[in-house]
Amino acid sequence: EKLKNGLTKTRENITGKMNEVLGLAMTIDEDLFEELEEVLITSDVGYETSMELIERLRKKIRLQKVTEVDKVRDVLKEVISEFMEDEEKNFEVKKPTILLIIGVNGVGKTTSIGKLAFKYKNEGKKVILAAADTFRAAAIDQLEVWAKRAEVDIVRHQEGSDPAAVVYDALEAFKARNADVLLCDTAGRLHNKKNLMNELEKIRRVIDREFGDANIYSLLVLDGTSGQNAVIQAKEFQKVAQLDGIILTKLDGTAKGGVVLSIKESLKIPVVYIGVGEAIEDLQDFDAKAFADALI
Ligand code: GDP
Repeated sequence: EKLKNGLTKTRENITGKMNEVLGLAMTIDEDLFEELEEVLITSDVGYETSMELIERLRKKIRLQKVTEVDKVRDVLKEVISEFMEDEEKNFEVKKPTILLIIGVNGVGKTTSIGKLAFKYKNEGKKVILAAADTFRAAAIDQLEVWAKRAEVDIVRHQEGSDPAAVVYDALEAFKARNADVLLCDTAGRLHNKKNLMNELEKIRRVIDREFGDANIYSLLVLDGTSGQNAVIQAKEFQKVAQLDGIILTKLDGTAKGGVVLSIKESLKIPVVYIGVGEAIEDLQDFDAKAFADALI
């Protein structure tokens, strides 16, 4: 329900355009496929991804011998659902898991960490936060606010201190308290790629040395309202860090939710969580089928 509500703007955008196209079409022909492709492209699905989806739609319609225009919507829904599902699930949060959360300012990184802490805690896990984005004091304070809300511990140093040192201390606390999940807030200053790469690598080295047998994942937080720009940003991050998954935020406030499809195709990494509101419980596991259902 929350997902359906969250995706209202995206759905209205896509289905509005699609209804127009389907309403006018008399038969299923090449013109119709081209117009549907246009609908997807203008809904932030991305050029390559839209082509791929329409190609799959063509095939399915041929195989299932669909002739009625009315049925096209359901077939497209199937196509989207399958498209999102045929992706390996390599993400599992079991003890001990260390998550490095990366992302530029303003995308919803702090909020997402707070939501994740709350979610894991409610699953019975012991969670610790590491404030390893030490560039701005306000960011550290903001993370502390979320730690209080989620009622989890936080390890923080002063503004400007070495992020790897924060992670080191957090790992000590993690071991001492026998915790399940460590969520590390890390930097995302893309304008200095060399620094960013060094910083993230140094953090990885500390983790490998101190806790090499933990499950370590790097998750990139992207702002769903930025549509195709989110994909471009992710590609920049892929140049400096090995990414395991995406947290896509603010899907509730945007008509650009089609970008989820594009991320999968262009980046080859899964969307694992989506943000659908500002409150602490407004984070969901990404579910391909539910998403396809809510989208169209
Ligand atoms: P950061 O700078 O990346 O850490 O970003 P913040 O976590 O401070 O979030 C920036 C703004 O985005 C805040 O006003 C958040 O409330 C808002 N925000 C974050 N996630 C979501 C979401 O899923 N939906 C909506 N509507 N707003 C969000």
